[in-house]
Amino acid sequence: MSTQHQAIARCREFLADHQIAMGEAINIRHYTDWSNYKHIQPFAVVFPKTTEQVSKILAICNELKQPIVPQGGMTGVAGAGIAEANEIVIALDKMNQIEEIDPYASTMTVEAGLTLEEAQNAARAADLYFPVDVGGRGSCQIGGNIATNAGGLSVIRYGMMRDHVLGMEVVLADGRVLNLMNKMIKNNAGYDLKQNFIGAEGTLGIVTRAVLKLSPQPKELTTCLCAFPDYLSAVKLLRHLQKRLTTPNAFEVMWDEYYQLSLSWMQNHANPLSQHYPIYAVFDVEGSAEDLENILAELFETGEILDAVIAQTQAQAHQLWLIRETVPAEISSTGRPLCFDVSMPIGQLGEFKAICQDRIAKQYPQLVSLFFGHIGDSNMHIILDLKDQEEQVIDDLIYGLDEIVYDVVRQFKGSISAEHGIGLLKRDYLHYSVDENALNVMKQLKQLFDPNGILNPHKVFKSS
Ligand SMILES: Cc1cc2nc3c(=O)[nH]c(=O)nc-3n(C[C@H](O)[C@H](O)[C@H](O)COP(=O)(O)OP(=O)(O)OC[C@H]3O[C@@H](n4cnc5c(N)ncnc54)[C@H](O)[C@@H]3O)c2cc1C
Repeated sequence: MSTQHQAIARCREFLADHQIAMGEAINIRHYTDWSNYKHIQPFAVVFPKTTEQVSKILAICNELKQPIVPQGGMTGVAGAGIAEANEIVIALDKMNQIEEIDPYASTMTVEAGLTLEEAQNAARAADLYFPVDVGGRGSCQIGGNIATNAGGLSVIRYGMMRDHVLGMEVVLADGRVLNLMNKMIKNNAGYDLKQNFIGAEGTLGIVTRAVLKLSPQPKELTTCLCAFPDYLSAVKLLRHLQKRLTTPNAFEVMWDEYYQLSLSWMQNHANPLSQHYPIYAVFDVEGSAEDLENILAELFETGEILDAVIAQTQAQAHQLWLIRETVPAEISSTGRPLCFDVSMPIGQLGEFKAICQDRIAKQYPQLVSLFFGHIGDSNMHIILDLKDQEEQVIDDLIYGLDEIVYDVVRQFKGSISAEHGIGLLKRDYLHYSVDENALNVMKQLKQLFDPNGILNPHKVFKSS
């Protein structure tokens, strides 16, 4: 009998029938994530209901050296949750309870299968705020957010998932349960082990519970769209806002080709500015429209802001944000998107964009590369639509574009993954951003936590 048959037979001793799916009964959502990189039906999907069951499943797989892949909402975009046909998936969907909201500690204790949106809603109902927010909020799970160290629009103000995890329960590959369920802000009792599992893409342990740090609800936000003569003027506005008002809750930059395309796709939407400019930022900031106007006026005088509009109503604010959101949404639904998610020191992103776009245009004049992103977090996204490219050349095209983008990132000593992780898609380029010694220590950590290499094998780097 194969190891996967043996593992499932032993799991049946403590899991009910409805906690195991095989063959046709496996929902197609377990085949791939949002990267669409590969579609594979895994051997089986198990749905534990308790940490004890997770522990038993892992102990069995470890003993049999059977690979097992944790999956959350499968909204990841790096192929990190995709399992091979001989692998077993462990899905935490049935571990989705909110155990407690502590208004004094301002924490929420949850099981890892809770969706991000449910966590956000529960915090709001308790007059608190969970600030991590990504487009896949309705499906992605807290465990997946932790495993990818998710970012999103509000990182500039509140930080990434890592900044919101105070405590964690995690099951190691051999079934041992680490209880790291801390609620305190300060706790220097030894190594902070939980940090190893944040952003580890399910390769070091399975997160089963977490203590999340909550924030006060934000005050009323003012939304603004500004136009600039060049990239560094946009950065200057950000620093000016931080000095004179506060750090914005979101600060997103778009270049003109992105802006124009977005407007052309937004039905009945005229340009809210009087003309087109080289570069734009849309942002939300706490403070009145009047405060903001005074600050903007100073940069108008120096010519570092060319035009601006401040939303007067919620509907106008929504329309301004649509300019930022339309392009990725439209390409994802009607085209064939190829996305990059890179970072480097904020002052260099403008130069990076110019060099990278130029190299793409020279090698692939038929393609339009669009640059935008969470600039306040030194994070640039690039999106291309490969819809009209011939099927036979797509793989070569993707390889060629990877080579260009990651080579320029390396030149700038940046990161090939700002917030989406490595998974399978960026594995071959990890050494562009991580030096040899650091890579070896990562491999040693993997060996320490998962000596048999059963947990999400070959993700982040190829297992030996
Ligand atoms: C429309 C859209 C917009 C997005 N926008 C952003 C954005 O702005 N910023 C950003 O950072 N990301 C963004 N993402 C990607 C984001 O990283 C993921 O959506 C999310 O964090 C992954 O959660 P998930 O539950 O779907 O995990 P999955 O995709 O299921 O898994 C992702 C990884 O986590 C592992 N994993 C899942 N659960 C566990 C667990 N309990 N324990 C251990 N490992 C686990 C998996 O093995 C895999 O390696 C976006 C995605 C979409 C679809």
